[in-house]
Amino acid sequence: MSSSVNLHVDLGKEELVSRTKALIREVPDFPKPGINFYDITTLLADGEVFSEIIDYFATRFEEKKIDKIIGIESRGFIFAAAIAAKMKIGFVPVRKPGKLPYKVEKISYQLEYGSDSLEIHQDAVKANERVVIVDDVLATGGTASATAELVSRLAAEIIEISFLSELSFLNGKEKIKDYKSFSLVSY
Ligand code: AMP
Repeated sequence: MSSSVNLHVDLGKEELVSRTKALIREVPDFPKPGINFYDITTLLADGEVFSEIIDYFATRFEEKKIDKIIGIESRGFIFAAAIAAKMKIGFVPVRKPGKLPYKVEKISYQLEYGSDSLEIHQDAVKANERVVIVDDVLATGGTASATAELVSRLAAEIIEISFLSELSFLNGKEKIKDYKSFSLVSY
């Protein structure tokens, strides 16, 4: 179980959302023509807003009595690990294939063109542990839904899937509708 952490959030949610949006850089046609890339490096470079975001999510998860935070490779790691450290609870990476050294559970899922896979260590979460899954961007929802399936196989209880931002026009929430989900900012 998580222990109580001293957190103080200085910005109201509305201000946090607007400052977060202002700091995310939109890069057209990256990594290929037609994709509008939401670049968080400009946000991470702002220590005050980055730390307020971590405090916001830590406070949110503290109320939900979370045991572990699961981050999706690779930008999800940045937020998930920082939130977990703040809450003094465990961080678990879900990685691209071939990166984790011990016994893994693996899932393959369809992309628009082709397929991809994700892995988690089999002993990374225990049955009935209360977990949240964290990533930077919810786009089509394929990655998050595959991660949720992977974590479910280890019999952990997924309390929420949380994102820094959501591209609502892609309707990714539909793919993860069996779970509670949340995003701080929405496009
Ligand atoms: P999806 O499976 O389509 O929901 O894609 C989610 C993953 O791809 C996340 O890990 C995001 O980091 C990344 N991603 C997808 N689309 C974008 C985008 N337009 N800008 C930034 N990251 C994206």
